[in-house]
Amino acid sequence: MLDALSYDDVLLVPQYSDIKSRAEIDISADLGNSLTLELPILSSPMDTISESPMVVAMSKYGGGGIIHRYVSIEKQCRMVQLAHDISPQETPTVGAAIGTTEDYMGRAIALVKTGATFICVDVAHGHHILMKEALLNLRKAFGDEFHLMAGNVATLEGINDLADWGANSVRCNIGGGSICSTRLQTGHGLPGFQTILDCAKTDRKVAIIADGGIRNAGDIVKALAAGADAVMCGSLLAGANETPGKVIEEKDGSRWKIYRGMASKEAQISWRGKYASFEGVSSTVPYRGGVKYILNDLERGIRSGLSYSGARSISQLHARAKFIKQTSSGLSEGHTHIIGRKW
Ligand code: IMP
Repeated sequence: MLDALSYDDVLLVPQYSDIKSRAEIDISADLGNSLTLELPILSSPMDTISESPMVVAMSKYGGGGIIHRYVSIEKQCRMVQLAHDISPQETPTVGAAIGTTEDYMGRAIALVKTGATFICVDVAHGHHILMKEALLNLRKAFGDEFHLMAGNVATLEGINDLADWGANSVRCNIGGGSICSTRLQTGHGLPGFQTILDCAKTDRKVAIIADGGIRNAGDIVKALAAGADAVMCGSLLAGANETPGKVIEEKDGSRWKIYRGMASKEAQISWRGKYASFEGVSSTVPYRGGVKYILNDLERGIRSGLSYSGARSISQLHARAKFIKQTSSGLSEGHTHIIGRKW
């Protein structure tokens, strides 16, 4: 049986660096077919993460956002339109998600007509015949220049097939999200870090998006160093002002926002009135203010991380990164450990 590593199992070895300022570091990502990001972070297409305000903000601060698909075509198109109307940018990056059944083609055509700058084919198990049919049809409908993102996959065969079917970028990781119970419900999945290592062996022209299970800037740097071009985040952004839903104020003064998996019972009941098998949970996360503060912190961490590996760009990081496996005592040493110490 093969071993598989998760983010906490590894560390990057600090290396000689001639980078004098972190401003010298370019953290932009080219995901193909005109989808470029100044900051390699995408917000997840989930109904507690990405509607117009989040997509506008992600684009403004250099990342990208994807309007979720758990509404009618009309409503999703209105969100795309709204993102354009309030955006301070002339041409904001506005992604929009679709599925692979029923109205997917009509939805994609309407979204692109309204102004979606890329389409994300968003299903839990993307290495699937319905994904093949959808990608082949979408590629035919939108031509060779339009950016198609697709996922999720967990293997090299998965990313290769999706690339061959027409995807420019692929969301990689199954079962690793903070609100995900896929592995518990189905026994399937792969540790997220291993998925990136495996998918990075692809010889296709395809961008890798490390999706789910990213808890801090350190995980982002590890994902990029393992071969990802960008990361996709839900929980890290869920406490922002720009996510849908109200701030919950508790009597003790603490403030929270709801964050839920799209396959949770709660999400399924709200978007289709019933639930079938569920592979996610609903939770709350601390309210964190404007997303720009969250992104600023992450950006500082990413720049610092590249500097520790002596890398001026994400592609240099891909080439230079040296990983080691760590033990559980290494892991606990790496967490701040003043609290609880026996003096
Ligand atoms: P997080 O950043 O760890 O919170 O993970 C977010 C990612 O989890 C999303 O981008 C999706 O790929 C995935 N996801 C969203 N909803 C569900 C669900 O209900 N079950 C499993 N995975 C989910």
